[in-house]
Amino acid sequence: MTNSFSAKLLRWFDQHGRHDLPWQHQASPYKTWLSEVMLQQTQVSTVIPYFLRFIERFPTLKQLADADIDEVMHLWTGLGYYSRARNLHRCAQEIRDHYNGELPQQLEQLQALPGIGPSTAAAIASIAFNQSTAILDGNVKRVLTRFHAIEGWPGKREVEKQLWQLAQEHMPKKRCGDYTQAIMDLGATLCTRSKAQCQACPMKADCQALALERVQDFPYSKPKQNKPVKEAQLLIIRRQSGEIALQLRPPTGIWGGLWSLPELKLDESPEDFVQSHFGEVLAQQKRDKFKHVFSHYSLLIHPVEIQLGREHGKIMEQGQLLWYNPHFPQEVGLAAPVKSLLHL
Ligand code: SF4
Repeated sequence: MTNSFSAKLLRWFDQHGRHDLPWQHQASPYKTWLSEVMLQQTQVSTVIPYFLRFIERFPTLKQLADADIDEVMHLWTGLGYYSRARNLHRCAQEIRDHYNGELPQQLEQLQALPGIGPSTAAAIASIAFNQSTAILDGNVKRVLTRFHAIEGWPGKREVEKQLWQLAQEHMPKKRCGDYTQAIMDLGATLCTRSKAQCQACPMKADCQALALERVQDFPYSKPKQNKPVKEAQLLIIRRQSGEIALQLRPPTGIWGGLWSLPELKLDESPEDFVQSHFGEVLAQQKRDKFKHVFSHYSLLIHPVEIQLGREHGKIMEQGQLLWYNPHFPQEVGLAAPVKSLLHL
């Protein structure tokens, strides 16, 4: 069954796979790596415009490595999971400094680079260097759990181990890059999360979930746990000229390395904060609160508008504060809810 799996998949891919994605044009290891990082937990249609902007601005890995991190974050704004952008930049610098600007070909070397996990490393090794290294991203997990009717949540260690083993067993020794692309395409176009198109699927004759009429049962979902809700105030401090104070977030944690509005706990006084850091408060007004959902918790945001009067000049640490002009926005990376608050 192993050989027939890859043979059938490749036959289908030749006819129905996606052969016209922007990173497939004049493909290079750099484009493969960039697209694979962007595609982590993100759909192709979302990634395409970001990929095109990145490649236009940074046609080579060296240009990306030499760029200012603020510019990289700015181009990434809206794509989410911002640690990917910081790691992408660090990774480009490591490749420039230790591998002469060329992506290494060995799986272990790829995996040791920032932001490249086992599945991304395998995708780069197979697509860019035609090595027989299996991937296990969300699409592949869905195809394999259905094809083999694997019980249990794929995030569980033993289920994941079994899936890696099956993924490697199905991986052919030839046309490795095409196979990787093919199994991702199958998961993205036919074996989709809802409404799988089994009748058009090249695997239907041997698919166990289909035979059991249990396609929608796989993959098992994560056991439910209630997400905690945290609350915070975000201050929109506007000076007389209309500019708004932005603060640089620490490199780790939520919105790490992005510019955000000053954040206070619910029991802290916006007025005291503004008076000690900026100057006189002319007026303050609460705006409607709203929820922003992260993977591990939700944040209930309470925005507070502050009109600043005379400033005393005792500002925050140098490089940590930026006066943002919403009419002529600077090119800086902004957290998504902050971006919408600034432009209301
Ligand atoms: S037959 Fe259906 S469930 Fe099975 S692999 Fe194909 S699309 Fe997925």
